[in-house]
Amino acid sequence: MLVNNSKKIVIKLGSSTVVDGKGKFKKKWVTSLIKDIKKYGQGKNFVIVSSGAIALGQKYLKIKKKRIKLEMSQAIAAVGQIHLAGEFQKLFDKFKIKSGQILISPDDTEQRNRAINVRNTFDNLFKLKAIPVVNENDTTATAEIKYGDNDRLAARVAQIIGADTLVIFSDVDGLYDKSKNIVKTVYKLDEKIYSLTSNIKNKYGSGGITTKLDAAKICMHAGCNMFIANGKKNNPLKAMLKYKIFTHFVPKISSLDARKRWIISSLSSFGIIFIDDGAAKALSNGKSLLAAGVLKIKGSFDKGENVLIVDKDENHLARGLASFNSKEIDKIKGKQSKEIENTLGYFSKSEIIHKDNMVKL
Ligand code: GLU
Repeated sequence: MLVNNSKKIVIKLGSSTVVDGKGKFKKKWVTSLIKDIKKYGQGKNFVIVSSGAIALGQKYLKIKKKRIKLEMSQAIAAVGQIHLAGEFQKLFDKFKIKSGQILISPDDTEQRNRAINVRNTFDNLFKLKAIPVVNENDTTATAEIKYGDNDRLAARVAQIIGADTLVIFSDVDGLYDKSKNIVKTVYKLDEKIYSLTSNIKNKYGSGGITTKLDAAKICMHAGCNMFIANGKKNNPLKAMLKYKIFTHFVPKISSLDARKRWIISSLSSFGIIFIDDGAAKALSNGKSLLAAGVLKIKGSFDKGENVLIVDKDENHLARGLASFNSKEIDKIKGKQSKEIENTLGYFSKSEIIHKDNMVKL
């Protein structure tokens, strides 16, 4: 079983996995998980991505309301997070395991230099033999800049640190098919799989099966195995190994390097570049995108940001990091490379997106 063969394992715990119906931290269950980590995790690096800050904050502050305004949930998360991290730290300490807290915002994973910084922090925690306990930085996340669910966050973390496995423990046994049987293995995220999403949400979590499939997409591109398994009973890793009840999303065999894996699994694109047929052909032959082939752009983006490249019929062709900002591209679109300097008034690269910064879709 793959959890056994993995070297770097991310375990994602949904709110209902770590917080009970009364709003209390599930010490017994988390203790049983830590015991499993100790037993099966020799020589492996683990990361815990845990939700539950808002749920614990609500309990502590005696706030029962279900619909809470974002500004208030930021404050509640601040109160809850300190408890959440404290609970983990106390339990890890009992087992003489070191731990450290990492709070992540989308900017930390979606900007390349910051993503590298995040990876280094994880690497150094592994060197210190400390288990990183991760959550979204809910206290500063706003509606526009927010993961909102820890499924995609966990997948992005798994991809950035080069994990070989992500296990999502939630309150379901896996992905169910129409006859309520568990889909054991998924090799491709096609229409059939997407038709199985019912999107029933639990009491606290913000994710559903849809965000888990988004996470699977990131993992499959990143060469990381993803499992959805039940986190209701104690000793969840042991149960996975023994009973093998889960859905396994098998990654594509990919020749992409770490940088390209990061590009393709970015959460969203900042803009769209429309290109002509000639440029589309060049792209399919592995060439860079030149200004001459650009028809128009949509959106406003900076140099280095992730953009989507489409043909004139809006077919998705590639994703890449722009070498110019959107205003510059708007000025030089359709121009030959030698005209770029005159148009912009300064010398720059001649590619709009270099082939090394682009992944075909
Ligand atoms: N970050 C949120 C929390 O700790 C949970 C997000 C989610 O439900 O996935 O409460």
